[in-house]
Amino acid sequence: MGIVQKTDKSIPEKTTFVVALAGNPNSGKTTIFNALTGSRQRVGNYGGVTVETREGVLRHGDIRLRIIDLPGTYSLSAYSIEEIVARDFIIQEQPDVVVNVVDGSNLERNLYLSVQLAEMGTKMVVALNMADEMRQKGLRVDLKALGRTLGAPVIPTIGTRRHGIDRLVDNIIAIACGELDALKPARVNYGKDVNAEVEKLAELINAGQADTVARQARQAASSSWVALKLLENDNVLAEKVHRCVTCEAVRDQVHLSRQRLTNLYGDDAETLITEHRYGHAHGIARQVMRRSVRAKIELSDRIDAVLTHRVLGLPIFAVLMYLTFWLVFTLGSPPMEWIKAGTGALSNWVAGQWTAQTLPLVRSLVLDGVIAGVGGVIVFLPNIMLLFLAIALLEDTGYMARAAFLVDRLMKWVGLHGKSFIPMLIGFGCTVPGILGTRVLDNRRDRMTTMLVLPLMSCGARLPIYMLISRAFFTANEAALAVFAMYIVGIVLAIVLAKLMRITIFRGQAAPFVMELPPYRRPTLLSLALHMWQRSWHYLKKAGTIILAISILLWAMMAFPHFTPDPTANLTDKQVAQKQLERSWAGRIGRILEPLTRPLGFDWKINTAMIGAIGAKEVFVSQMGMVYAMGEQEEADSVQLRENLHRDYSPLTGICVMLFCLISAPCMATVAVVRRESGSWAWALGQWIGLTILAYGITLVVYQIGQWLNVGMG
Ligand code: GDP
Ligand code: MG
Repeated sequence: MGIVQKTDKSIPEKTTFVVALAGNPNSGKTTIFNALTGSRQRVGNYGGVTVETREGVLRHGDIRLRIIDLPGTYSLSAYSIEEIVARDFIIQEQPDVVVNVVDGSNLERNLYLSVQLAEMGTKMVVALNMADEMRQKGLRVDLKALGRTLGAPVIPTIGTRRHGIDRLVDNIIAIACGELDALKPARVNYGKDVNAEVEKLAELINAGQADTVARQARQAASSSWVALKLLENDNVLAEKVHRCVTCEAVRDQVHLSRQRLTNLYGDDAETLITEHRYGHAHGIARQVMRRSVRAKIELSDRIDAVLTHRVLGLPIFAVLMYLTFWLVFTLGSPPMEWIKAGTGALSNWVAGQWTAQTLPLVRSLVLDGVIAGVGGVIVFLPNIMLLFLAIALLEDTGYMARAAFLVDRLMKWVGLHGKSFIPMLIGFGCTVPGILGTRVLDNRRDRMTTMLVLPLMSCGARLPIYMLISRAFFTANEAALAVFAMYIVGIVLAIVLAKLMRITIFRGQAAPFVMELPPYRRPTLLSLALHMWQRSWHYLKKAGTIILAISILLWAMMAFPHFTPDPTANLTDKQVAQKQLERSWAGRIGRILEPLTRPLGFDWKINTAMIGAIGAKEVFVSQMGMVYAMGEQEEADSVQLRENLHRDYSPLTGICVMLFCLISAPCMATVAVVRRESGSWAWALGQWIGLTILAYGITLVVYQIGQWLNVGMG
């Protein structure tokens, strides 16, 4: 290193310092050089070669800086004349400070040279030039971190506007005078094999005090730098070793080491070393760069090129949707079992403490109404939380907006707005916020159409029904497929209905479409957890309030009017309970509806549960559990319930139940919110009646055709 450490900093021994400007071509070296030197400059040649080098002087108080604009290079290997000139100047002239001019808008590529300068151990100041372009590109650099890795102060500059030049000069002088401690740069790690060879060679070089290579090493940074260069087959140094008579040992070792590395890696040593050095530069760039809006948008564009690709986009979308449901199923089942075990244990405990003789009606209310009813709904909380998590992920990453963009063509064909897709996607979680979400649509026709078909998006409350029914009749894989099919049927129906409405009651052009596409972002755990929790809490609250109330109401419908058996008839408990249910209000209504629903494959039990689902869809599940619990004095345990269903009904009926639950009668909350958003009861009730009639028609056709073809008759 060409600097003499000052013992007394206040009186520098030297007042003239040599400052070399090194950097990639077009990094702005000459611009910085001009900014530093003004007009005091001259053009010269170094080492008798034809590469032009400019030199100028900067006076700063007593201090004179001789500034040399070296030729622009990308590297310091000895491949081009520019590289040789730049490197030899640094080695032989020993400048006091090297100013590494870096084009900040191409940081990573420029760092390759910076890393080599740092490796040589030169005292360095980095001018992070093109700061204006960096800002335009939205690139931000952690200056401290970059300074630490390169072992040099980093000064942002805009050469063309002289910005940062004064600070640059201050730092050059501080480094030159030793007022600013030069830090040790982060070492490039070439891997242990290269390192071992470098060490071997460096020892040999140190041993040969008198020879050319050792002199070269003393003059340059260190013997290990020379060793590395020799391993890299550096033209200039290799030539020196070749000509030097006392260098036989070094020459042989270079040959052996290179041979060994080639054998180990199948690549020559220079490739290996270059790769590691690039890796180092890449690592620094990754570490110190902070991307802001613009950079995020550029990255987003690249992601969009794939995710919203004209051909690939839709298949990727379909796969992502399927993955979502698959995850909801597989990840959801273990916690589901735990909750089931928990409510089962609670029910058993209560049953054990509370004998059947004391207050039998209240006991039945607690066990069959409250615990079975609410427990049967809470059991699906894990699935619903996972579904909401998936939706939160799609929303928070920014994919949801892309999905809308992707389906815009499809939506246009339907006559809907691309933006309609977002409320519809939200509808998969819950219809109510989905309907509120239609507010993003400006056009009333778009809005009404979307709102009216929205209940066909299978909401989170449909899922428990699908789960119960599909698992009762199918294997896990078939069940997943059946549930997926339900979602698809809902979507297709919604599309067809929307199209029909657009050509009849809501005629008119769809509004032109501009979809904001915010950059993709990595969602934070907090926001995911929050979104998931808020919606799940809503579901839980529903289970705790509305569903509890409906459970009790429906329990009462089944417990009253009370059936008193004739003591002479000698009925078993089971038969008494069965009679009770049949004669209760629920049973009677279910029976009354039987002739109407028999063509759909439903009996009075299913009818009774469907009545429960009028309040909230998921009540179907608890109601079904109660029908069986009360009918046969069994726990409303899901496994047991599934077995009962399997025994009593055909898979075809199962499919029909799912279909009917999907299409018919939106829940009470939906009716209420549609009334509010549409401004009239007519729309809300019309929707309710229309969808129920449609459900009846479709289920009828499916059941009849299924029977006729003898499909799914178990
Ligand atoms: P050299 O090849 O490293 O000597 O680069 P030059 O000094 O010749 O500069 C290359 C180009 O970059 C010229 O057009 C300069 O005007 C321009 N330039 C230099 N510094 C800056 C800067 O900080 N910002 C911007 N936007 N342009 C710069
Ligand atoms: Mg130039």
